[in-house]
Amino acid sequence: MTGLFDSFHRRIDYMRVSVTDRCNLRCTYCTVKLVPHLSHDDILRYEEIQRVVQAAAGLGIRSIRLTGGEPLVRPGLPTLVEFLSQVEGIDDISLTTNATFLNKYAAGLKAAGLKRVNISLDTFKPDRFRRITGSDGLEDVLAGIEAARKAGLHPVKINMVVLGGINDDELLDFARMSVSDGWHVRFIEYMPLVTPGAEVGQLVAVRDMMETIQRAIGQLEPCLVASGNGPAKYYRLPGAKGTTGFIGPMTDCFCSHCNRLRLTADGRLRPCLLDDNEVDIKGPLRSGASIEELKRLMQEAAALKKEQHHLTKGFILGKRQMWQIGG
Ligand code: SAM
Repeated sequence: MTGLFDSFHRRIDYMRVSVTDRCNLRCTYCTVKLVPHLSHDDILRYEEIQRVVQAAAGLGIRSIRLTGGEPLVRPGLPTLVEFLSQVEGIDDISLTTNATFLNKYAAGLKAAGLKRVNISLDTFKPDRFRRITGSDGLEDVLAGIEAARKAGLHPVKINMVVLGGINDDELLDFARMSVSDGWHVRFIEYMPLVTPGAEVGQLVAVRDMMETIQRAIGQLEPCLVASGNGPAKYYRLPGAKGTTGFIGPMTDCFCSHCNRLRLTADGRLRPCLLDDNEVDIKGPLRSGASIEELKRLMQEAAALKKEQHHLTKGFILGKRQMWQIGG
């Protein structure tokens, strides 16, 4: 078999690249505790990320998603997008962002070769936005969503982490946006990565979200969405141009068809978000490793991929927090 496979015969054709561990928001469910940020030298330069992606493309990786921290706090992100769009074999570059700076960058990112964007938004209420994120940026996010659509990034997907007792009363408002405004909305189960007892919210299972939406709005018909590599299941509400997706890491485990490898901002290959196994690629890269050597490190990392995560067995807090890995 050619290409990159793990020990469970899963093909890896998608890489999530974290470009920074810095973020301008402090979401309650993402930030466990603040630890010192990586130094400038610790972080892979854009040329280095391009070289890793060249090696990945040589192994059949076709799709790259940029994430963080908040990727748009790193200066010059369109330059990286341009570098990556020059890599032969890479035909899909996307971005996950909180969109607070997207109004400024959407057109430039599109011109550089970005195809699509996932935007994190958990509430339409300014005071709640402040409570969840520690910031007043709701208007900026909404402007960022509009700018992404205007720039022709497609699809624009809106990711809402559903936090029971905190924002689950807005589930229907978000779902209705798929009908009224053609949004592609995705509801994500909260993963309990933050200290137990923190005022973060309760898990709401995907089946309960679906039931609430169907009872109030109408039947969710299964459908496909324009593009995606991820674990979401998509549906359409009656009369909706947009879609309603659900991601259930807690109650609808999708590890059996996981197709991804991660690259952390400090140059480590990480086979799974929820497992601390990593392979250093920055050291070899900076010592002049060839593309073939980098490919071997990726094969090593893929071989470390576990069959599935164990989040449902209880609270885990690994060596790194979400914002340090690239969610
Ligand atoms: N700053 C960017 C953003 O906000 O989209 C990218 C990084 S952020 C860590 C990526 C995604 O991880 C966001 O959609 C966020 O909502 C999600 N996330 C973070 N912590 C989570 C948790 N405990 N459970 C579920 N999703 C989480």
